[in-house]
Amino acid sequence: MATINDNYLKLKAGYLFPEIARRVKAFAEVNPDAPIIKLGIGDVTEPLPEACRSAMIQAVEDMGDRSTFKGYGPEQGYLWLREKIAQHDFQARGCDIDASEIFVSDGSKCDCGNILDILGDDNKIAVTDPVYPVYVDTNVMAGRTGEANDKGEYDGLVYLPISADNDFIAQIPSEKVDLIYLCFPNNPTGATATKEYLQAWVNYAQENNSLILFDAAYEAFITDPEIPHSIYEIEGAKNCAIEFRSFSKNAGFTGTRCALTVVPKTLMGKAKDGSDVEIWKLWNRRQSTKFNGVSYIVQRGAEAVYSEAGQAQTKALISFYLENAKIIREQLTAAGLKVYGGVNAPYVWVKTPNGLSSWDFFDKLLQNANVVGTPGSGFGAAGEGYFRISAFNSRENVNEAMSRITANPY
Ligand SMILES: *Cc1c(COP(=O)(O)O)cnc(C)c1O
Repeated sequence: MATINDNYLKLKAGYLFPEIARRVKAFAEVNPDAPIIKLGIGDVTEPLPEACRSAMIQAVEDMGDRSTFKGYGPEQGYLWLREKIAQHDFQARGCDIDASEIFVSDGSKCDCGNILDILGDDNKIAVTDPVYPVYVDTNVMAGRTGEANDKGEYDGLVYLPISADNDFIAQIPSEKVDLIYLCFPNNPTGATATKEYLQAWVNYAQENNSLILFDAAYEAFITDPEIPHSIYEIEGAKNCAIEFRSFSKNAGFTGTRCALTVVPKTLMGKAKDGSDVEIWKLWNRRQSTKFNGVSYIVQRGAEAVYSEAGQAQTKALISFYLENAKIIREQLTAAGLKVYGGVNAPYVWVKTPNGLSSWDFFDKLLQNANVVGTPGSGFGAAGEGYFRISAFNSRENVNEAMSRITANPY
């Protein structure tokens, strides 16, 4: 019989969202008429911007004509898209990133996991706690951890706790780690990082020859002009950081699928024989071998994000979700809850009242208000006692959910 990758057996009983789905299903079976509102999973709800839709319709037409038909595209993405990304997302902010350093992909989630393909299995890895579960689980699958303890912490990972005590900003470790996952604006806490804080991480990474894996999936939600959007706004980051970006949250591409990873050519890693190797070369090789690019149609849709109309429409989309976040913050505060985040991010991170556990609060909210959120403990042991509410929903649902919660003050 074929053997399996035993690392998968180390994964804790479920990825968070299947357990939420199980509880919601059980509740709905007993209460079939309950008007459940889901503010749980971080998925967008509003339609694709018109500019993206028309670009994709045009691209479908291109595919219907022999003279404009496209077969396989470049594995790295079409240059016209990579150039627009480099120009608008990086060069316009003073980041010296070239189109050749941008790799277009079908998702940041995949890239966050796939990047482990090109990194050694002896790296010491740090993650925040709570954390976006993908960073941890992909390391478990790749055999980069030991077993999990009762709290779900894996042996071999360095956990950097974040809570209200440190304003959800992890302390930079005193020990040396090789890989650090950072996500700003943060999922799940909605916290942001200042330039000074990111500079401290870049300095640490340079001193310790570490690599920062910077997830900027929510950068478009930053409204405060002082907050950096890219790690490359930080001096020295081109020598120590990879950045992940996605069209999922800024332009509603969660179901359309398009993202990008920036791998600067100046980034070096160490081979077993002690020599320095360009990380860009390895990622380029990996993508060319295991990936065949994002569809032409979708890349045309992503390109339209950078058109004048696309910029206005995505801006409106983000303002809409940020207004939801503001309503959630204000209403939950009025209901007597302590809230964090939700200002430069689409997530509001709530302290559970009266010492309730994250799952007890989940059950209570489901029972009393028929509102589904995400238990903080699902993002890590230090998320216990917190709860994530997502601003990705219609205004009607957000208002209705909030009025139900304020009707049962805590
Ligand atoms: C939504 C999200 C992404 C984007 O993932 P895609 O695969 O591009 O849809 C990346 N990182 C975090 C933390 C996210 O929440």
